[in-house]
Amino acid sequence: MPAADKLPPLREVIAAHGLAPKKSLGQNFLFDLNLTAKIARAAGAQDGGTFYEVGPGPGGLTRALLGEGADKVIAVERDVRCLPALEEIAAAWPGKLRVISDDALELDEASILPQGVRIAANLPYNVGTAILIKWLTAQTWPPVWASLTLMFQKEVAQRITAKPSGEHYGRLSVLAQWRCTAKILFDVNPNAFVPPPSVTSSIVRLEPREKPLAPCRLPDLEKITAASFGQRRKMLRQSLKALGGEVLLAKAGIDPTQRPEDLTIEQFAALARALA
Ligand code: SAM
Repeated sequence: MPAADKLPPLREVIAAHGLAPKKSLGQNFLFDLNLTAKIARAAGAQDGGTFYEVGPGPGGLTRALLGEGADKVIAVERDVRCLPALEEIAAAWPGKLRVISDDALELDEASILPQGVRIAANLPYNVGTAILIKWLTAQTWPPVWASLTLMFQKEVAQRITAKPSGEHYGRLSVLAQWRCTAKILFDVNPNAFVPPPSVTSSIVRLEPREKPLAPCRLPDLEKITAASFGQRRKMLRQSLKALGGEVLLAKAGIDPTQRPEDLTIEQFAALARALA
């Protein structure tokens, strides 16, 4: 039996440490051990290696990562109330769990994470997109991490993985898929969480591309997608006017009457190169 199974059930952990979930910290905890094991396996824990978890909370997913075979978990948690519960897990898995008490948005991860680390997290919904953008906009590419296996609200998962012409296609789709492959693995019912959120969630898997899908500079791509999707119903000649509109579109060989939702990521990269 894995050592994690000797730890008390998560409901008892929460009661013992007074971990009433805080909405301000995006705390929706997972208690279902079958589900946490499924997420850990989706992240590849059964293959061993080092994992980075943002927001372990009382440690449901942390225990699953260790129980499924992770050699090491580095976990960053902002809520100091969770630290004693996480220390109990660290004691049950000597030398395998390092807990960092910090804000994941502020943490200098490059100095902490080993090359090839895999990231697995049930992200807090209020900062989940900001944390993903932090990882996607890493200065060096390919990044230090080998994969991301992340829980998001389903609507955010759909935006990350959307293809052109779909209602969810936007800035996040272009940024994510320019640098990564991205797919939704499975949905998670609100009732799996305590407290249940108001919407369905999805597990998304991202893997970094060796090179971005098409050459261009990240700041230029961000400027182009911000201007384009800032007015997503308008034709590109209108929404890109302030950046040089028709000239840019001609340089990139794109019909100025097109709307941003119909452009491929390669076409956005061509516009970014024209802007540069
Ligand atoms: N991993 C646990 C689970 O699956 O049951 C908890 C997930 S809960 C959705 C999100 C966790 O992220 C909470 O424990 C919360 O305290 C933590 N958190 C929120 N904002 C954070 C931040 N900026 N940096 C690190 N952790 C954060």
